[in-house]
Amino acid sequence: MIKVSEVEERVLGYIEEHKDEMIRFLRDLVRIDTQVPPGLNYDLICDVLADKFVGLGCEVCIHDAPEKYMELSGAGFIGLEGPRSNVVARYPGKPGKPVLHISAHIDTAAIQEEGWTMDPFGGEITSDNPYGRSASDRGGGYIWGRGVADDKGELVSMIYALQAIHELGIKLEGDLILTGNCDEEIGGVAGLGYLMREGLVKADYGVQWDGGLTGIGLAAQGRTRFLVRTRGMSYHGQLPILGVNAIEKMSKINVALNDYWRGVLLKRQKAVPGIELGSALREKGIDKLTAMLNIGTIKGGVQGATVPDLCEEEVLRGMIPGETFEEVREEFVSVIEGVKAEDADLEYEVEVINSREGYVVSPKDPWALEARGIVEEVTGRTLPFTGTLASTDMNYQVNEGGMSCFNLGVGGPYSNGHRQDENASIDEIVDCTKIVALLYLRKLKVA
Ligand SMILES: [Zn+2]
Repeated sequence: MIKVSEVEERVLGYIEEHKDEMIRFLRDLVRIDTQVPPGLNYDLICDVLADKFVGLGCEVCIHDAPEKYMELSGAGFIGLEGPRSNVVARYPGKPGKPVLHISAHIDTAAIQEEGWTMDPFGGEITSDNPYGRSASDRGGGYIWGRGVADDKGELVSMIYALQAIHELGIKLEGDLILTGNCDEEIGGVAGLGYLMREGLVKADYGVQWDGGLTGIGLAAQGRTRFLVRTRGMSYHGQLPILGVNAIEKMSKINVALNDYWRGVLLKRQKAVPGIELGSALREKGIDKLTAMLNIGTIKGGVQGATVPDLCEEEVLRGMIPGETFEEVREEFVSVIEGVKAEDADLEYEVEVINSREGYVVSPKDPWALEARGIVEEVTGRTLPFTGTLASTDMNYQVNEGGMSCFNLGVGGPYSNGHRQDENASIDEIVDCTKIVALLYLRKLKVA
């Protein structure tokens, strides 16, 4: 199975020798608070990454998404603050050769105020892990803090893979583009969405360097976040007959939305043969990508003695690949129009917070198969191709960029992604660094 060349062996050796330095750099990144919302300090982390990339012989640019992309992100509703900075580094090869783009995100999931037993900004290291073990664990210990598995561990691994290549004086034939993009956790509109839409990143092959070392991700759903508002007329709550109750109106809408998603959307499916969606869904009888809907928040009214004149809720509509934002919005409004046809008093507004589309890459895709082979060489494990009903930034690489792509990264069930006590196995970060280094060397070829 091992077919590692002599150059590759030197690169893998360098990575093994520099793992302490790499983990120190990861700790520096974890100490920068980039949780979103609000997503502060993107400029700060981009400066740190840019300095590192310059030292590795890259051409580096920091792109701040303009105001328009803040609006498209739903910045006001979500509570975003600070510049939307993205760092783009190019390790130049020769013109006319394949270009490879690796995307990792600089933001992290929000940090819960309670329930952490470790400092979320600490980057502490332990030998044991009470939450389980990584299959890569060779006794190298675990690092703790927000983002170590999602996605700062991936950021340092893509950087140290390049550092190994650069320091060993290896040149690549094709261009390697590494991006540290922002706002992935809230839809990536001002992050990779902006970079791809504006043509700031163009490549033939992509890797969404985000996920776990448990499966190679090829499919994900899209989603649109709607804000729905109903308006009524306030009155004394003991004379409700003289008012119009906005919460009652919203209740009618919600009955209709519930019938719509369970009766219509659940039947709207897309089969993905060769791609696993996970056992929890299978146990619920779902083995295909499936459209869904979630009424996620609701608020309205001030007290029992007042007829509420306003009710507002957020609804998330999960989209199967192929469903477009326009179709989904039209259908959503038509469900509410159906309610209005029976109730002339219904006054409502629908706003879109933001949207991203889904995608499916074939499990026969040669780039995905090559990646699976490389993971096998490094870890000795054959990973399944996987899909998710959630969504990732890979949609921008596939749908906007037309790249052949997959997602993969640091983490597994043990690593508590998005939860308290996020952690990552140091040996697994090393394995991921080796994997991504081999992806660079094999796809771009040593010059
Ligand atoms: Zn992530």
